[in-house]
Amino acid sequence: MAELHEQTLIELAAGLERGDFTSVEVTEALLARVEVHDQTLNAFVTVTGEQALAAARAADEARAAGNAGILNGLPLVHKDIFCTRDVLTTCGSRMLENFVSPYDATIVERLAAAGAVVLGKTNMDEFAMGSSNETSYFGPVKNPWHLECSPGGSSGGSAAAVAARMAPAATGTDTGGSIRQPAALTGTVGLKPTYGRVSRYGMIAFASSLDQAGVITRSSADAALLLGVMAGFDERDSTCIDHPVPDYTAALSQSLDGLRVGVVKQHFDEGLDEQTGAAVREALSVLEANGATLLEVDLPNIDLSVPTYYVVAPAECSSNLSRFDGVRFGHRAEDPEDLFDLYCRSRGEGFGAEVKRRIMTGTYALSAGYYDAYYLKAQQVRQLIADDFRQAFEKVDVIAGPTAPTPAFRLGDKTDDPITMYLNDIYTIGANLAGLPGISTPCGFVGGLPVGLHLVGPHWGEELLLRCAHNYEQLSTWHKACPGDFQ
Ligand code: GLN
Repeated sequence: MAELHEQTLIELAAGLERGDFTSVEVTEALLARVEVHDQTLNAFVTVTGEQALAAARAADEARAAGNAGILNGLPLVHKDIFCTRDVLTTCGSRMLENFVSPYDATIVERLAAAGAVVLGKTNMDEFAMGSSNETSYFGPVKNPWHLECSPGGSSGGSAAAVAARMAPAATGTDTGGSIRQPAALTGTVGLKPTYGRVSRYGMIAFASSLDQAGVITRSSADAALLLGVMAGFDERDSTCIDHPVPDYTAALSQSLDGLRVGVVKQHFDEGLDEQTGAAVREALSVLEANGATLLEVDLPNIDLSVPTYYVVAPAECSSNLSRFDGVRFGHRAEDPEDLFDLYCRSRGEGFGAEVKRRIMTGTYALSAGYYDAYYLKAQQVRQLIADDFRQAFEKVDVIAGPTAPTPAFRLGDKTDDPITMYLNDIYTIGANLAGLPGISTPCGFVGGLPVGLHLVGPHWGEELLLRCAHNYEQLSTWHKACPGDFQ
């Protein structure tokens, strides 16, 4: 039998069901790994050992009593952007360093109700603004494949925890690529669902029209299992859509036969690292050799996605983050002279440099006289990008390309140059602007570092994505590779 930390959710579920081991044993084994490895990786902000063991005991009892939920006794970790009752929720910020939410996010509630055991909360870029985890108030996360490299971001703690086998699965959020890019950079699977598929209630808002919750796992089959529990209408989120939740696991068994895969011509341009491109092309040929048809697709406005995003996302963030004012919750400056001083110093001390940069850009873009030139224009371009995708999906079922332009980069390499950092999401941001689902699955190594194949589907196309990625995983072994120091 594979060691407990090596097993995927589905393998663990089968072992628990057979009685090979208990949830308490799995939880203890993983917590012991966290204790050893997280000193190096810094993937966790909070480890919830006691609560996890109590939940594992309850899960084992529920199973003995014949009441096992679909995720009964299965361990996972939450990105520290999801509110958790009685446990710190920091969002990677000094602003929320001591914040304990009075309620659970909907997805936290749903996963717990299905029997999941939460091992802790993972490190992330501050308020999910970043692509490298370096904007976190709690320090950068290290990439388990190379400790001097970034695991990507903003869900870098979740990705590193899964890659280093400290947890078989993690939640994440994706506003411009924050699930898919870290998944690619750590050799894990990252799924960002359709906008409105999963409730955002209790998920701290960055850019409300782009944010979506999803998962990071070691296989698409595990992602399908979790999505089935997380997805579905929630009356507490007005943007969560009442659309039936299919059996995502059932979709995995369909072959690639007849699947039309669009290859975006703009995504194989000079910005793409050559060897990363070669790995992705090789993956595409595997799909083709196994029943899929490859067709070139054109997304003529896709090159505008990064600049468009960097108007829309900061604009929305400047509004969302105005709630952190030192009065109601979060960091509060000491001995303020007056209300203005309280606002200024609480926000000045509580937010880091990248968050401040975004709030300033966003406030500027929304200000009188500039609104039409920037925000309105960006929304118009966003529509053009969404239309490009819509037209492409008249011809193909899924769109494929690289997840990120390069493998993991060194910590510190891009911190002085926000624009190069922003370009890391060049292939992922389009899906957020158009509200489309996307998945990244490992498709090779470049210089010993993993790279990802990115698939985007039409609205509600999660089944197509999971089917395509799962088939690819059956035809390859990249997703099984484990970083040498973490076996
Ligand atoms: N890297 C992008 C940004 O900094 C996307 C972040 C995200 O998806 N949360 O905004």
